[in-house]
Amino acid sequence: MARKIGSRYTAHQVIGRGSAGTVWLGEGPEGPVAIKLLREDLAADQVLVGRFVQERTALTSLDHPRVVGVHDLVVDGDDLALVMELVHGSDLRSRLDREGPLTPQAAVSIAADVAEGLAVAHAAGIVHRDVKPENILLDQASSPGPGGAPRAKLSDFGIARLVDAPRRTRATRIIGTPDYLAPEVIEGLEPRAAVDIYALATVLYELLAGFTPFGGGHTGAVLRRHVTESVAPLPGLPEDLWRVIAQCLAKAPASRLRATELAARLRELLPSLAGLPALRVAHPDAATAPADHDGADPEELPDDDAEDGDAVDPARRRAGRRRRGAAVPLVPGSRPDSSRETHTSLRRPSPEELASFAAASRAERSAAAARGGRPGGPGQGGAKRSGAGAAVRRRRRILAVVLALLVAGGAFGAYEAFAGNGGGGSGRTPGGGVGTATVSPSSGAVDANAGGLPQAPVAGQDDTATSAGSTPLPGWAAWTDAPAPPAPLVGGVRAVRVGDTGYVFGTSADGYVRYLTRTTTGFGAWGKLTGIQITGEPAPVVLPGDHLRLFAQGTDGLVYLRTLNAGRWTDWGKLDARTQVDSPPAAAVNGDRIDLVARIGTDLATTSYVGGAWSAWQTVPTAGKISGTPELVAENGGTGRIDAFVTPVGGGPLLRTQAVNGVWHQAQPVAPITAGPSRAEAVQAPDSGAQYVFTASGAEAAGSVGGTGWTAGALPSGGEPAAYADATGVVLFQRTPSGTLRYSHTR
Ligand code: ADP
Ligand code: MG
Repeated sequence: MARKIGSRYTAHQVIGRGSAGTVWLGEGPEGPVAIKLLREDLAADQVLVGRFVQERTALTSLDHPRVVGVHDLVVDGDDLALVMELVHGSDLRSRLDREGPLTPQAAVSIAADVAEGLAVAHAAGIVHRDVKPENILLDQASSPGPGGAPRAKLSDFGIARLVDAPRRTRATRIIGTPDYLAPEVIEGLEPRAAVDIYALATVLYELLAGFTPFGGGHTGAVLRRHVTESVAPLPGLPEDLWRVIAQCLAKAPASRLRATELAARLRELLPSLAGLPALRVAHPDAATAPADHDGADPEELPDDDAEDGDAVDPARRRAGRRRRGAAVPLVPGSRPDSSRETHTSLRRPSPEELASFAAASRAERSAAAARGGRPGGPGQGGAKRSGAGAAVRRRRRILAVVLALLVAGGAFGAYEAFAGNGGGGSGRTPGGGVGTATVSPSSGAVDANAGGLPQAPVAGQDDTATSAGSTPLPGWAAWTDAPAPPAPLVGGVRAVRVGDTGYVFGTSADGYVRYLTRTTTGFGAWGKLTGIQITGEPAPVVLPGDHLRLFAQGTDGLVYLRTLNAGRWTDWGKLDARTQVDSPPAAAVNGDRIDLVARIGTDLATTSYVGGAWSAWQTVPTAGKISGTPELVAENGGTGRIDAFVTPVGGGPLLRTQAVNGVWHQAQPVAPITAGPSRAEAVQAPDSGAQYVFTASGAEAAGSVGGTGWTAGALPSGGEPAAYADATGVVLFQRTPSGTLRYSHTR
């Protein structure tokens, strides 16, 4: 029953059926292919077809071994077909159904493969939006990976976005399993890359446990759990691996690892998992459903309810859990059948549904309050936050941001008023930058030397042509290994000098701060700071009197701080109890003033310690929309100026925005340094006043603090950078991909 698809392809036989259509084994000019013929009602939808055609390039652009490549898109009469690379093997759902939970090593190997596929897509700006076992194909033709796991490939890129558009009618809208849906999507936010990480962490959990962390019962119940419930560790799972999963299941998208990081962390873990048997975790539904594949004893139930200390009634919860959830019809009126396992996309809950979830979680919260339940802090069980507490904090954070926007609007207005005095209005002077400002050190007042209103930086219009080369790049000594940390470092590192001692701070996979000291006589021993678990790197600053102060983002999103006083660390304290940030903070000190920045959503947000108290958080409009982790440095010499370095949303050049006394100036590109996904490091040389900037990809730039010209170069190798300056010059540290530390210094 061969069937012609366009002029170049022939479909021979059906090899799979999914929610969006039928997959055929086919033949094209270059050999065998898989052809997905979209369902008739989808192919008949002109708007949808138009969208597919428009997105043809995006659909066919991904070319990577861990991605099922789309070779072609065919629109032929009533047919809409995707011509794909043919994968020999089953999908991950069939394998799970057939064989049950995988060994930790096999599960992690498959998840690492998928994370690598996601990394390529995310780098290209493509969000998958429908990561689930049905869309992960196991390639039996290539040789197996660690733990005997088949290599995995992610399919259906970009399809969810095209099929699941708001204007589609209810009749044809596809309703899928909500098991893998990230909380921010449920709350109505646009899906970004982090939704794929959440979904992949859910898949990994499922591969290990045999069931998803939040699935089971009514769709509304599942959605509510995503938003409000925390997830309990899987008994018997190595803690390092659990940390990675928990971090990627974080409610705050920014707290999750990025795809490249996740892939690297999972790969790092693989050797340690060798030989571990598959977990025997009883399904939470075991009491009401017949035994699963492993026949585990129901007594092994992870008692997450008890540990959470929140208001979910365990009996109700357990009874509500059914494997894979109640069947959700793909099309109203259709009968739930096996195809429900291969949903293409997800429906966003309606406002009414969301309102009912909110009411339900309110009820849970009051029940918790009645029982004396308390929101959990990020202590030993940082990953298991109280869901109710998290919901309260989330709402408060939205309030805080709204407030901050109002306040920041005021600050921005003040800058406009003052900049307007500069006269002109072109916003650009021949030798200078756009809206740059100079500072009078005595008064701390700011003069706009360029005049006009701040303008957005324009690509290709930076001043490298006129002023590049004015600040020479430093010469660096060869890289030397620093003493190996007792546990591999993950994420960024930061460095600071206090008196004669340099400190380098990082984080190990358990979420605890690790630090190393260095003096003229050599390195000290590695130290460890417990108490709370943090996300990303801590930010050290030196307070007057040579006290070292550390700021960090707790796994609950709040900012924590602690201080090293005369050789003793104080306990961690909260900067404020309600503002959740989406990146680690960065801080700078000027006399008695401390400025702190972090990213909240896509805004640079700041708070300052002035006159003995922390101000309300404000957003910094001059930074534009940002991603990643911001950097903040104070200019030497007590000028009061601070420089923030930020990554614009969507990438592009690294941007610098400067402020004095809370008045921020329009961001300028640190041309031609491309912003990396992680934080850039900036440091000012002690004598010359030159500012050096480094990114994790190994780019370096030198410029002057007030100018806009930069000299760019590349270090011999990349890695998460940290630097501090001492009397002899700048000491640069890098966390290597294997989690060790190396260093170099200016010559
Ligand atoms: P849908 O996303 O529309 O629900 P799927 O992409 O899951 O459909 O495809 C249904 C089935 O077809 C899959 O489970 C898989 O077995 C098979 N299949 C899909 N794509 C390929 C491919 N590129 N090569 C081989 N088999 C495939
Ligand atoms: Mg699919």
